[in-house]
Amino acid sequence: MKKNDLILAAAIIAAAAVILAIQFFRQDNGEQHVVVTVDGDVFGTYDLAENQTIEIGKTNRLVIENGNARMEWADCPDQICVNHKAVDKNGESIICLPNKVVVSVEGSKTSSLDGIAQ
Ligand SMILES: [Zn+2]
Repeated sequence: MKKNDLILAAAIIAAAAVILAIQFFRQDNGEQHVVVTVDGDVFGTYDLAENQTIEIGKTNRLVIENGNARMEWADCPDQICVNHKAVDKNGESIICLPNKVVVSVEGSKTSSLDGIAQ
């Protein structure tokens, strides 16, 4: 009987851990995407949860890694976008003024609640 209790307890803990992991994952990355615009036109939309490198024309290179996005390289003279910290929260953006490149993080409809919590 004791062994069964242990197995039951372990199963409950395992289930709770899975639920917590899913919730954590959702809050962190769920439904978030990165929108890149060049000179006001949408260049592309990319999943923030998927590691990838995006060449934005010949002027900028965006890297999405571990749930955040950063400008890895740019040919602009000020390098403000390259020095900008990685963005991972809804509404955050990296702007390269000389190249008219805007990278912004957008979430799903439900993620505005996360924004309030933060
Ligand atoms: Zn720049």
